[in-house]
Amino acid sequence: MTKIQTLDAHHPSEPGQPHVAAAMGRLGTETAFDVLAKAKAMEEAGRHIINLGIGQPDFLTPPHIVEAAVKALRDGHHGYTPANGTLALREAVAEDILLRRKVKVDPGQVLIVPGGKVTMFFAVLMFGEPGAEILYPNPGFPIYESVIKFSGAKAVPIPLHEKNGFSFSASEVLERITPATRLIILNSPANPTGGVVPREEFDRLVEGLAAHPHVCVMSDEIYCRMLYDGREHVSLLGYESLRDRLILLDGWSKTFAMTGWRMGYSVWPKTLIDKATRLCINCHSCVNAAAQQAGIAALRGPQDAVEAMVAAFDERRHVVVKELNAIPGFRCIEPGGAFYAFPNIEGTGIPARKLQDMLLEEAGVATVSGTSFGAYGEGYIRISYANSIENIREAMGRIRTFLAARR
Ligand code: PLP
Repeated sequence: MTKIQTLDAHHPSEPGQPHVAAAMGRLGTETAFDVLAKAKAMEEAGRHIINLGIGQPDFLTPPHIVEAAVKALRDGHHGYTPANGTLALREAVAEDILLRRKVKVDPGQVLIVPGGKVTMFFAVLMFGEPGAEILYPNPGFPIYESVIKFSGAKAVPIPLHEKNGFSFSASEVLERITPATRLIILNSPANPTGGVVPREEFDRLVEGLAAHPHVCVMSDEIYCRMLYDGREHVSLLGYESLRDRLILLDGWSKTFAMTGWRMGYSVWPKTLIDKATRLCINCHSCVNAAAQQAGIAALRGPQDAVEAMVAAFDERRHVVVKELNAIPGFRCIEPGGAFYAFPNIEGTGIPARKLQDMLLEEAGVATVSGTSFGAYGEGYIRISYANSIENIREAMGRIRTFLAARR
C-alpha cells in the first residue's frame, strides 16, 4: 500500500508508528513546564533548586474563595452548568468589568472557560486556517505562536523591543496587516517581559485599525491587576470602535492565585459568542460547577488579598531588578506589570538557551530562556519573581558566583 506522506516534513510518521495529523508536528509547547519538571526531578535527586521559572503566584488562593467552592460541593453543585457558564458568574464578571474597565458588557457575551489559555485556543481556531495570517507578540506567551501554526495559519510576529519597554509600536503592527490578516493578538501587561503598553500606543493602533475593518483583535489582559508605580490598566474593551471585533481574555489564575482551578473568562463580539459557545460544547461541555461558585466569591468578595499579593510582587520587583543589574553581563529594565523580569544577557556572551540550562544544572536556579517566547527573545532570559525575597537574593547570588567562576 502506498504510504501517505504528511505535509509537514519535520513530522513524518515512522513505519509502525501511529499516523497522527500533520498539524501535530506544528504544535509547540511551553518550556516553563519542561523547566519545572526538570527542576522537580533535580530536587527529588537531592539538589536544592530555586525556581524562578514558572509563571504562577507563590500564594495560596484566599480562604473565602476556597470556602465558597467547598460550600458549593456540599450544596450539591455537582452537575453540568450551561456551556457558557452560570448566569450568576457571568453577571459577576460583567459587574467586575464595569467596576474596573468602566465598560458595560452584556453577560450574554461573557464566556466562562477552563483557564485563560482556552480563550486563545478558541480564538485562533475560529480564525486560523491555511491562507490566513495572525499577528502575535514576539517575545510573547509561547502558546500564541504554537496554536497559530497548529491551525495552519501564518504566524506573523510583532517584534517587541527592549528600547520601547517591550511595548509594541502601533506602526509596526499596522504595517504587518495584509488582506489575509484575520486576528491580532495583544498582551499588556505582558508575559514574558513585564512590559506595559502606554495608552498613546493603543490609541494610535486603534486609530489605524479603522482602515482594516476585517481584522479582529484578541486582547490578553490576564495580568491586568498586576500593575506598578500607579499605572492604570488600559483595556482594549474601552475602545468603542473595536467593540464589535474584540475578544477580551482574562481569568482568575493570576489575580486570585488560582492557576490550578482552571478558571478563565472571555468577552466576545455579539456575532461570535454563539460560535465560541459551540466550541465549549464540543470541547469541555462546561467549567467545573463548584469552581464557578468560587469564581463569584473571588470577584464579589474582599479584594485585600489581591492587593497584598500585588504589593509583595512590587517589593520583589525592586529587589530583583536591582540585583539583576548588579550581575556583570546582565542589564534589566524595570517591568511595569505582571511578575516577570526580562534581563538582557548578551553581555555574558552565552546564548539564552545555553544559559538557562547552565543556570539550572550548575547554579541550581530555574529560569526560562527568552527563545522559549519566540525568536526575538534571543539575548534574554525570563525571571519569574513569584518567589520569596530571600530566595530571589540567594538565586541572584548563585548566578553572580556562577558567572564569575567562568571568567
Ligand atoms: N495569557 C498569558 C499572557 C499567560 O502568561 C498565561 C499563563 O501563564 C495565560 C494566558 C494562561 O492562563 P491560564 O493558566 O488561566 O490558562
